[in-house]
Amino acid sequence: MRIIRVRHKGQAFYASIVSPESVRPLNRDNGQSEEIPLAELELLSLVRPSKIVCVGLNYLDHARELGLAVPEEPVLFLKPPSAVIGAGDAIILPASSGQVDYEAELALVMGRTARFISEDDAARHIFGYTCANDVTARDLQKKDGQWTRAKGFDTFCPVGPWVETDPGDLGSLTLRTVVNGEVRQEGSTAEMIFPPHLLVSYISNIMTLLPGDVILTGTPAGIGPLAAGDEVSVEIDRVGFLLNPVISQALGDPTNVQ
Ligand code: MG
Repeated sequence: MRIIRVRHKGQAFYASIVSPESVRPLNRDNGQSEEIPLAELELLSLVRPSKIVCVGLNYLDHARELGLAVPEEPVLFLKPPSAVIGAGDAIILPASSGQVDYEAELALVMGRTARFISEDDAARHIFGYTCANDVTARDLQKKDGQWTRAKGFDTFCPVGPWVETDPGDLGSLTLRTVVNGEVRQEGSTAEMIFPPHLLVSYISNIMTLLPGDVILTGTPAGIGPLAAGDEVSVEIDRVGFLLNPVISQALGDPTNVQ
C-alpha cells in the first residue's frame, strides 16, 4: 500500500493511493472510507518527525570507496526536522558551501513509539518505507570535523513521495541516484552492514523513537556533487521515486558562486 498525507475540508489525514486520480482516507474519526479525487486534496509534507536519525557508513561498498574501516557498531547522527522537504520541492545550495553531494538512502518511517525494542519486534513498530536524499555539504563536513552544519541546512532532507508499507524483501532493494537523466549512483541493500530492523532496535535502546520519526539507513557507493539547475531523483525498487530540482541560494548574494 502506498500512503500520502493530505488535507481535505480542513482536516489533515493519511490516505492510501488507490488510483492515479484518487485516494482512500485512513484512520479518519468519522469512519468514512469513500474515495476522494486527488484534485480536491491539498498534498501535505509526508512526514513530521520529532527527529531524523541517520546512519553513516552503512554500506560495505561506500566504506571501501572512502577508504574507511567497516564500523563495528552503527555510526549515528541527526538531521533537524526543519531540513525536510517533499517530492518536487527545491534543494537549495547554500552560498557557504562549494560542494553539495547527493546520497540516495532507504528511509524508515516509524509507526509506533519504540523504546528498548528487540530486532524481532522492530517490524511492527515501522509504518513503512520511503526514499530519502541525505544531502550533504561535503566541504563543510570535512572542515567542521562533525556533521551538524553539513547535514543540517534547510532543504537537505528530501523525503517521499509516499510511504510504501510492504516493499517485500528489504535485503534486495536496488537504490539509484539519477541526475538529469543519468544514473550516477547505484547500489543494493544487500551491501548494508546493519539492516533496518537491527537499526530500529539499536536506536531504540538509545532514544525513544516516536510515530513519524524517520531513520535514514545510509548510502551505497557512488556519491557525487549537485549543481544549480540539476534535477536529482532517488529511485528505490518497490519503494518509490523522489525527484527534486536543485537551485542556488538567493540571487544577489555576493558570496553565491553557483
Ligand atoms: Mg548518508
